[in-house]
Parts: sequence; structure tokens; C-alpha cells
Amino acid sequence: MTGHRPTERPRERQRLRPRDISAYRSGNTGTPYVFQFDSANPGPHAAIVALIHGNELCGAAALDTLLSLGVRPTCGKLSLIFANVLAYETFDPIRPFAARYLDEDMNRVWSAEILSGAGDSREVARAREVAPLLADVDFLLDLHSTSSPAPAMILAGQQPKGVALARATGSPAHVVTDAGHAAGPRLRDFAAFNDPNASPSALLVECGEHFSPTSEDVALDVAIRFLMGTKTLAAVPRGVIKSTKTPTQKYIDVTEAVTIRSEKFAFARKFRCFETIPKAATIIGHDGVVPVVTPYDNCILVMPATHFAPGQTAVRLGRHIPWPNA
Ligand SMILES: [Zn+2]
Repeated sequence: MTGHRPTERPRERQRLRPRDISAYRSGNTGTPYVFQFDSANPGPHAAIVALIHGNELCGAAALDTLLSLGVRPTCGKLSLIFANVLAYETFDPIRPFAARYLDEDMNRVWSAEILSGAGDSREVARAREVAPLLADVDFLLDLHSTSSPAPAMILAGQQPKGVALARATGSPAHVVTDAGHAAGPRLRDFAAFNDPNASPSALLVECGEHFSPTSEDVALDVAIRFLMGTKTLAAVPRGVIKSTKTPTQKYIDVTEAVTIRSEKFAFARKFRCFETIPKAATIIGHDGVVPVVTPYDNCILVMPATHFAPGQTAVRLGRHIPWPNA
């Protein structure tokens, strides 16, 4: 394992457990679990968000490390945000997926319509608290993990500026563009982040499987690279091992998401992630009686789901294309 990681942490291999983050409750912005640091030097406002999903522990670990090391921006401003802490606090290793959210998925509520609407879930309430703090963010990194083992990947959104931020960050290797989910807008697609005529950009990074210890290393590595790539940090912080290896990034353009329509969805076989299906019209699964087929040759399967429910994304389909010009 290469990458930025704390120098002192024992290399235990057991499954990740949530860290106690209660010391961060008061934050320093007036909003619980939200920190903002101003370098007083000109530069961008970079934000790192963890725990949009309460059972995705790696992002909380990365923010805990940055805060406990006292990392401060060299230029511009840095915001560190623990999002759905209420869900995180319910984490139970016996039911480790239950803490994803309390009332609704917090990564499907990020539109002005939803935030100003009548919804009163605990996730929407928290998003309403956090949203004003994101108004002047130039670069956002949203740290996540996956329910199944999958290589780490950047979801860069639909705009070339997202791809440019992915390349400036430099890792992980797989850079995926996609339009999100039919079920609702993600934080990374919120407001200016998905506006081709506005400069703010955002990345969602999947750091590996939820409870894999390496996801914690990936999250911290990506966070440091993001802060250096955006010129927020001039150097690797003291107390962190300098990364030695930057991967060759590959760019996958997701052309469609397969949204589940029936109560009975099943894949034709077990897929992990990034399998390439050589031939168009290959049946990869069935949604009820309707076959799900690949739309073109060399179709890449991105993040196949392991649990299926109508309205949810079963898999995204994509292909390798040249890097776009930002
Ligand atoms: Zn997530």
C-alpha cells in the first residue's frame, strides 16, 4: 500500500470501526461538526466532506487525522465537514449497513427545490444546515466507500472541470464521469458544481469497500492530494507519510445508468466492478423478464449493486474515451 497515511497508526488488519468524533461536535463555525480555517492568504476555498453516508467510515477517519494533526491551509480557506453524524452515531457492527442514513439517502437531496421544499427528514435538515457553508466553495471533495469490494475511483460528474480536478488530484486511478442517480441529486452535482458556466468543481471519491482498512488510507491519501492539487496545501503535513506512487489514471465515460424497474432484478453472473464486456447486446442481467444488455462493444460495468430495489441504480455502463479538454 502506498499513499499518504499517518506515520504512527498501527497497521491493524481488522475491519474498520468508527472513530469517536464527539470531540468535534462544537466545530468552529457555529454549525456542529463543521470546521473552517482561513489562511489569510489568497487562494481557493477547498472543502472536504465525510459521512454523507453514515456507515462510510473512511472519510471520518481522514478528517479526524487532518484535524488531530492540526492541518491548516497554506492558501485560501479549508472547510472540513462531517455530514450525517446522527446516522454515524447509530453505527452498529452487527448491522453495519443500517447507519447509511436515518430517514433518507443524504446523497439524493442536493437541489434547491428539495432544500427549500417541505421535506423534513433528518438528512434534509442537516443538508440545510451545511448548504450555506458550501456557497463559496471552489473545490469540493466528498469521501465515500462502497458496499462491495471495488477499486477506488473518482466520480467526476459530467463537466470537463470535474475531470480536470480529478487529474489535478492525481489518484485514484479510475476516473469515472456520470450523471448520478434517478433517485435524486448528489452533493457533487449540487448547484454550481454541476453548472458548466460556473467554476466551482467537485469530486466524489469511492475509497474502496466500507470496512476495509485500506479505505482509510485511500481517503487520507486522496484528501492530501486534493489539498495539494488545489494549492490549498503547499506540502504534505507533518505526521503523514509522503506518498511515493502516483497511478496512471484511466478515464471511463459512463453513458447510462441502469435503473431498476421491477421487484425482481438479477445479474446474469457475479460482477465486481470494471469488468469489460467485449460484445454489444450481451445480456448482463434481467429486470423482471426484461433482459439488460450492453449497448456497445467493450462496455465497462461500473459499481454493480449487490442489493436491488425499484428506482435504485443497478449498474452504470461506460467506456474508455480520451481525456476531455477542460
Ligand atoms: Zn456513499
